[in-house]
Amino acid sequence: MGTNAGTRYREYLQSPWWQRRRQLRLAVAGYVCEFASWNGQYDRYCDATENLEVHHTHYGSLGAERDEDLKVLCRVHHLVRHVLHIRCLCGDSVVTEDEAEDLVREAVESADGDIRQVTLAISR
Ligand SMILES: [Zn+2]
Ligand SMILES: [Zn+2]
Repeated sequence: MGTNAGTRYREYLQSPWWQRRRQLRLAVAGYVCEFASWNGQYDRYCDATENLEVHHTHYGSLGAERDEDLKVLCRVHHLVRHVLHIRCLCGDSVVTEDEAEDLVREAVESADGDIRQVTLAISR
């Protein structure tokens, strides 16, 4: 994503349309984190109802997102999702889901909840 695309995306996130879309998706999720871990089958194991954020699983439908294009995640699991998207050149995630969650929880603690510090700590 170039600078202009990044700016447009941030502007989009401020728009009344997205704010409404976001609220509707939160309602669909029942205001609970939808993070699920893969153990042969997906099992929900997060019941967080606070600090919920709406994550785009891809950016191909911006402005016309279907429910399945969006995922409701608590702040920690949102960061875990993004950490898992850091991939090595072979195409595999460089960290396992458990490692990602440990990384995020550690970073959240040491950064006192400052999301920019957390992101910096994770990308080191
Ligand atoms: Zn996201
Ligand atoms: Zn969660």
